[in-house]
Amino acid sequence: MTLRVAVVGGGPAGASAAETLAKAGIETYLFERKLDNCKPCGGAIPLCMVSEFALPSEIIDRRVRRMKMISPSDREVDIALDNPEEYIGMCRREVLDAFLRNRAAQLGAQLINGRVLDIAIRDNGNQPYTLHYTDFSAGGPTGIKKSLEVDVIVGADGANSVVAEAIDAGSYNYAIAFQERIRISPDKMKHYEDLAEMYVGDDVSPDFYAWVFPKYDHVAVGTGTMHVNQKKIKGLQAGIRERAKARIEGGEVIKIEAHPIPEHPRPRRVVGRVALVGDAAGYVTKSSGEGIYFAAKSGRMCAEAIVEFANGGQRIPTSNDLKVYIKRWDRQYGLTYTVLDVLQRVFYNSNAAREAFVEMCADKDVQKLTFDSYLYKTVVPANPLVQLKITAKTIGSLLRGSALVP
Ligand SMILES: Cc1cc2nc3c(=O)[nH]c(=O)nc-3n(C[C@H](O)[C@H](O)[C@H](O)COP(=O)(O)OP(=O)(O)OC[C@H]3O[C@@H](n4cnc5c(N)ncnc54)[C@H](O)[C@@H]3O)c2cc1C
Repeated sequence: MTLRVAVVGGGPAGASAAETLAKAGIETYLFERKLDNCKPCGGAIPLCMVSEFALPSEIIDRRVRRMKMISPSDREVDIALDNPEEYIGMCRREVLDAFLRNRAAQLGAQLINGRVLDIAIRDNGNQPYTLHYTDFSAGGPTGIKKSLEVDVIVGADGANSVVAEAIDAGSYNYAIAFQERIRISPDKMKHYEDLAEMYVGDDVSPDFYAWVFPKYDHVAVGTGTMHVNQKKIKGLQAGIRERAKARIEGGEVIKIEAHPIPEHPRPRRVVGRVALVGDAAGYVTKSSGEGIYFAAKSGRMCAEAIVEFANGGQRIPTSNDLKVYIKRWDRQYGLTYTVLDVLQRVFYNSNAAREAFVEMCADKDVQKLTFDSYLYKTVVPANPLVQLKITAKTIGSLLRGSALVP
């Protein structure tokens, strides 16, 4: 026998899974419904993604080295990276995704321009699963209906995953993000050369933050909120536009986009020989709303587990084999998700708490810890004195933020 794996979705999660599988010589089918897909996204990636995923420098449009945190009362705190080698990468998703996907194809994955419509999943021993899809590479814009039999499926098809639905993975809490791409004058664009802005306040989001991120030749201005507040999203977007008014005035809106952001892992991420990765699994972090790196990393880790148990493509991995990826994932990142969840609950829930949060960000040690954990995804423990100072500051901020002390 030869193991056949279908990866559904050609974003960072799916492309990275397909790359690892193809490199190991596994028969891999990578499905992407839209090869020029421009996923609604801020496009910010941490430095470690550039090296871990060997991204060439032309993928990075801008290198952000400064971050402005802006409190509800418009107090501004500037955070700068001291090391000139360090930066937050800003990229265009259509460029990043196409690069990762094409690399997987060059390594041997069969890239299919097709939309997976449904999957016949039954508890069927080692019998193959059947994917039904529309192939857009032939038959004009409507494509041709086809089917494919495979042994293992990786669901990397984003927040509205059909694979998650097919395996009854269960629902998750989600936020809704709204973003406008605005082309501003070159003069105004200079301000955002290497700077990203984060705004907090009831006017821009009751439970998240709003942003102005520099993109290739424009800025992305957006906000997010939990889906219970979905109806308020346009008002919140008006809020961030008002706050950033002086900086984006006269700009031309070139694109408006909205998309769900999963806020919690799905109740079931492996069912039978089907595993979910990236947004389909629910791997965006709270507080920061970061998901690109975690998507690519989870795709790779899931594929590594498949390769490990596939005996060079001669064995079909079992459900328990696939669950090894989940165990490793939760062990490596579980704490990160918990900490960022707590931070979001504590610091984004009232204007007083948000003021305290921005004030805390003025501290150099807090800045270093925050940047290090974002850029490298490993928290280097601070020395005990610094740790003590940060803890004391956090508690002080929390007390002030929750108005327990005036
Ligand atoms: C407004 C906004 C701003 C964001 N900003 C950032 C940011 O700055 N930094 C960051 O790290 N994260 C950000 N995120 C989160 C980030 O966009 C996601 O976490 C990331 O895209 C997840 O990658 P993925 O590969 O799991 O899924 P996706 O990127 O959603 O990719 C899924 C792919 O599957 C394809 N697909 C879907 N269904 C099918 C099907 N049935 N058949 C075939 N193909 C299919 C889609 O076309 C798509 O290409 C943002 C999210 C939003 C909404």
